[in-house]
Amino acid sequence: MLKKRIVGNWKMNGLKSDLAYIIEISQQAAAHPKADVAICVPATLIESAAKASDIMAIGAQDCHASHSGAHTGCVSAAMVAECGAKYVIVGHSERRTDQGESNADVKAKAQAVIAQQMCAILCVGESEDHRNSGNAVAIVIEQLNLSLPDIDNLENSLCVAYEPIWAIGTGRIPSLEEVAEMHMAIRQALVVKYGDSGNDIHILYGGSMNGDNAADLLNIAHVDGGLVGGASLSAAKFTPVIEAANNA
Ligand code: PEP
Repeated sequence: MLKKRIVGNWKMNGLKSDLAYIIEISQQAAAHPKADVAICVPATLIESAAKASDIMAIGAQDCHASHSGAHTGCVSAAMVAECGAKYVIVGHSERRTDQGESNADVKAKAQAVIAQQMCAILCVGESEDHRNSGNAVAIVIEQLNLSLPDIDNLENSLCVAYEPIWAIGTGRIPSLEEVAEMHMAIRQALVVKYGDSGNDIHILYGGSMNGDNAADLLNIAHVDGGLVGGASLSAAKFTPVIEAANNA
């Protein structure tokens, strides 16, 4: 079984005054060694958060697919790696929607992340209409197949996060059976693409995970961890999720 991995996604939240909280969560990570804990902070905090936390990994929430060039306002994978990022989220639904990122864009970003020896957290997920249509699994697997990086050596370079768009920030989650069905389908797609190495890729669940539902979600087969937005913003809410991962 893969060691459970809990990744916080701070989104556009966090100032230098919040670094004390990074230290607090880092101490929780040290106290729960059966779980891997990371936090993906805004680009402006990566370097200071990485310096503040020697146990917990720090990640970025996006990067450009190109190494450098005329892309005003963007940061490259090399830039966030130089600041100390170990993970980069790619293809979050908020970016797919707000910035119009395509599956091809997400694939290129994942490859750029991996080329810098970081781990790409590749997000996929269906809309509520797609869930209601009964085609969620087929739609997510197609999105996944079009977004997966072409790489030979997978060692700790890729995670997939299944994040139903309608569950993000809403307090609603799919049924445990629906999560199990989707994670199994994702596992099968990863094995088809990467062979046996596909079994070593963490598949995270994301979308309103919190201290009340984390234990149930993390005990589902092929749920190897969680991507946690709102509940990662306070130690009081994040610590129970870390505990659930440690005990799963
Ligand atoms: C996310 O946006 O990645 C996320 C999982 O958010 P939340 O936990 O707030 O639903």
